[in-house]
Amino acid sequence: MFSFKERTNIINILNRYSFDVLVIGGGITGAGIALDAASRGLSVALVEMQDFAAGTSSRSTKLVHGGLRYLKQFEVGLVAEVGREREIVYENAVHVTTPEWMLLPLYKEGTLGKLSTSVALNLYDKLAKVKKTERRQMLSKKETLEKIPNLKQEGLLGAGYYVEYKTDDARLTIEVLKKAVEYKAICLNYARVTDFITEKKKIVAANVRDEISGEAMTIHAKQIVNATGPWVDEVRKLDQIENGKYLKLTKGIHIVLNQSDFPLEQAVYFDTPDGRMVFAIPRDGKTYVGTTDTFYEEDPVQPIATKEEVVYLLDAIHHIFPDLNLRPEQVESTWAGIRPLIAEAGKDPSEISRKDEIWFSSNGLMTIAGGKLTGYRQMAEEIVDKIVKRHRFKHAQDCETKYLLLSGAKGLNSQNFNDYVANKAKVGEAAGIEYEEAKRLVRRYGTNVDRVFEYARTLELNGLPRALHAELLYAIYHEMIYTPSDFFIRRTGQLYFDIEQVERFKEAVLDIMQEIIGYSDSEKLFYQIQLDQFLEDAKNPAK
Ligand SMILES: Cc1cc2nc3c(=O)[nH]c(=O)nc-3n(C[C@H](O)[C@H](O)[C@H](O)COP(=O)(O)OP(=O)(O)OC[C@H]3O[C@@H](n4cnc5c(N)ncnc54)[C@H](O)[C@@H]3O)c2cc1C
Repeated sequence: MFSFKERTNIINILNRYSFDVLVIGGGITGAGIALDAASRGLSVALVEMQDFAAGTSSRSTKLVHGGLRYLKQFEVGLVAEVGREREIVYENAVHVTTPEWMLLPLYKEGTLGKLSTSVALNLYDKLAKVKKTERRQMLSKKETLEKIPNLKQEGLLGAGYYVEYKTDDARLTIEVLKKAVEYKAICLNYARVTDFITEKKKIVAANVRDEISGEAMTIHAKQIVNATGPWVDEVRKLDQIENGKYLKLTKGIHIVLNQSDFPLEQAVYFDTPDGRMVFAIPRDGKTYVGTTDTFYEEDPVQPIATKEEVVYLLDAIHHIFPDLNLRPEQVESTWAGIRPLIAEAGKDPSEISRKDEIWFSSNGLMTIAGGKLTGYRQMAEEIVDKIVKRHRFKHAQDCETKYLLLSGAKGLNSQNFNDYVANKAKVGEAAGIEYEEAKRLVRRYGTNVDRVFEYARTLELNGLPRALHAELLYAIYHEMIYTPSDFFIRRTGQLYFDIEQVERFKEAVLDIMQEIIGYSDSEKLFYQIQLDQFLEDAKNPAK
């Protein structure tokens, strides 16, 4: 039930049955709620107006992190909660999330002193109950330069060294959804809620439009949950806004550089000249850097970086890597995301709290706003607890997501994963994929890689490398892609981290997708133009 082939079937089911819970929004928040509710035995439907994770959940810094910066704002409770949650998110899907040592350089003129950083990181370890092997270390100047030789030396005092977790936000969302589908959640992308049906002043159903066929459907549910991130207010407007709270959107961009231009083997979190902090993180032969934080008032559907924002990040890099002389033309790709923050009068973008909030309107609509990728599981638990209580769902079991392994993670944990990768990659090799490439696939798909390797073994090559072709078939038949952008952006991340590969193979991918999915020629042209536009936006920031 997670493939384009099932769309008609899914739409029939959505129209025919009444669900315990209907979730609007297929980002990490909605996906988490769907999994939590379905795994407790509730009947669940989820609709997403674009592709799954096409909103903020594919546009983040891709860290499952404890939010060290919140210590600066004295949000101790938030740090403790989110810090502890990192470990759970990691262990539930070790193929999606990996520990990453982060270096925090300290300078004489910097905002962080050596002693205060040591104390803060120590407090962080305690609050977040960090395991022994991952507790913070303080590095001398010499040790710091051994890890990052091209760091600015003048005024360097040393560094804090601590663990964060690197993830793939869109794939995390997909693995959560695939698990929810295993528990019989009915999930549909390209399905937009257009309005609500109210009876006796209570919302009882949502009207939904299939954005591909134009077909209308009506989904009945006892509880409708508005988990639409930056669109939360728009969806509330379909109903009414009651509590006076509203969102303030801020934009954050990232840039991707080739490692040959920005050599970096060690993730680093550093001060910008204007007193903010940004990450530079090595990934798949590239280094990505972000993020910015500015108020945003345009359409959240396809935010793009501006030249000014790119230059801001390059200046921040030069500030701490003075020997680099990076030009905007060297930036290979960019992306921009929108933070749905809850408005706080008179505060700058970086000062507004990242806390989540849950609201019920008098007609029963439940709305979730704010929050982080990192806290998605815990937030879902809290939300479904409230739903169960409100509706007195007797058939609901207790929440078990703390120990629930996501799709692709069955039997895997932090202890056995590396051995699993090394052994399983041999199966990929036997299917005709080069060993290192096969390892990369195991790391991406976890135990689901068996299906990918099976496609690789049996497919007839058709203008694509074997591994990419097998991934495409897996995404079509098991991850519900409908357009080439779904594949290149959210299932493989290639538009950000291997844009050359997208340019090279986009036509072959489109041909194969047309053949399997059965697009008309005009539909094919539309998806081609759409992908070209995404490529253009990523490569050539606006203005
Ligand atoms: C630049 C940036 C960096 C970040 N970095 C991190 C980080 O490193 N770590 C971290 O933990 N958090 C990070 N965050 C925060 C995190 O990304 C977000 O909190 C999270 O992705 C929000 O997920 P969501 O599901 O609530 O929203 P979204 O992912 O935006 O999902 C909402 C979905 O609702 C859909 N929708 C809207 N209207 C309708 C409708 N009418 N019908 C159907 N569907 C609809 C949208 O299409 C969208 O896909 C970052 C955020 C930004 C912007």
